Amino acid sequence: MRIVLIGPPGAGKGTQAKRITDAYNIPHLSTGDMLRVRASAKTSIGRKIRETMASGKLLPDALVLTAIIERVAQSDARRGFVLDGFPRTISQAVSFDEFLDAQGIELDLVIELQIEEEMLLDRIVTGACEATRTSSAERTNDNHEALKVRLDRYRAQIAPLIDYYRLGRMLKSVNGLQSVDAVTKQLFDVLGWRDHNTAAEGLRARRSR
Ligand code: AMP
Repeated sequence: MRIVLIGPPGAGKGTQAKRITDAYNIPHLSTGDMLRVRASAKTSIGRKIRETMASGKLLPDALVLTAIIERVAQSDARRGFVLDGFPRTISQAVSFDEFLDAQGIELDLVIELQIEEEMLLDRIVTGACEATRTSSAERTNDNHEALKVRLDRYRAQIAPLIDYYRLGRMLKSVNGLQSVDAVTKQLFDVLGWRDHNTAAEGLRARRSR
């Protein structure tokens, strides 16, 4: 199963990605994680990566593509993978499609965790205040503003990609505003149109360990 998982910050993408990868016994490939490893290198490239990541800008397509292609070529990804944070641009999506094509494989599904922005802001800001045991209006405003910037950036990056995959008839949307378990169930229903039994068996096997 080769899946791209798309969703805004705070939508619970990491949790859901883990449940899918556990069920299918495939790796979770997060470009953010891969790049953070490269950013920790005490070299000038490491420093450049760190600076770009800190600014919230995207790293060059060539660098990200090389990282993802190297990772996908590893043996544990042969049965499939869940991509998280990649692709982020149409150009990455097209190049990755070309790479998969050359390997004689293709993506099975692109799943978008959909959440209304206002709801997401409320959810995250409330959660942050509870976590830090603060309810100050000032703090709430700061969180709200920072998140809005991240969400604006996300929307600008992701909207064209969503259109790209919708046109290719690969896109499925899941309502991310439900409980975590309800989102997982809907995700598996969506995945199930191809391979539901494998997922359920995988989950059972791993839970019984
Ligand atoms: P993330 O953990 O997915 O939010 O990614 C953290 C940072 O890594 C982003 O803000 C970008 O600077 C960089 N990054 C992650 N994935 C990509 C990508 N597919 N293309 C370019 N830059 C990326």
